Amino acid sequence: MNILLLGAPGAGKGTQAELLQKRHGWTWLSTGDMLRRLAGEMTSDKPHIERLCDIMAEGRLIPDYLMVMLLEEEFKRSCYEDGFILDGFPRTEVQVEHLTELLKKKGKSLDAVILLSVDKQAVLARIEGRRFCPECRAGYHLTTQPPKKEGVCDKCKTALTQREDDTAKTLTRRLEVFRIQTEPILPYYRKKKNILTEISGTQSVKQVSADIEKAIETMKKQKKEEK
Ligand SMILES: [Zn+2]
Repeated sequence: MNILLLGAPGAGKGTQAELLQKRHGWTWLSTGDMLRRLAGEMTSDKPHIERLCDIMAEGRLIPDYLMVMLLEEEFKRSCYEDGFILDGFPRTEVQVEHLTELLKKKGKSLDAVILLSVDKQAVLARIEGRRFCPECRAGYHLTTQPPKKEGVCDKCKTALTQREDDTAKTLTRRLEVFRIQTEPILPYYRKKKNILTEISGTQSVKQVSADIEKAIETMKKQKKEEK
């Protein structure tokens, strides 16, 4: 199956993408990771990669035409044949159209769009409790995974700190960006018969995963009936 995964910050999108990949063998295609990987390859014989490096070095947004070109290349890899979990693209209505076209050319289409939403207060509580060890990178949480001794790393006894972006202000901003980026593309997928499922990412990892599996099963049945 080919899935588009949309997730609000703090909804555990990465965790769920990994679980899907492990369980079904579909390839997780994070466009952010793809861009970083391509930019790192530095193949100067490909002008569009060179162009990508320049844009990324300047910290600018990747233009749609370039993104479509890169994705088209990427989809040539055989690992996407048995299904994929797309993450990070599309983010605008125009990009939705580009993606639909691109997939059509390859004889593919999206089978499911899964939106992991969050309750702001719940995520806030979750991320504000996060602590990590600046020395060995071990992660903790004040309520769900506290260190044995308050404020100190179990493994190397270093004082724990909070990540700079784990604050209410940053989260609020990131949620707003997510809303602005995602909302415009939802009506498109809502129009398509039952392809979009919204799942609360505020639940436990296990519950979110179970809900995703249920949605996928429904989508599979629907696909069979259409045939
Ligand atoms: Zn440590």
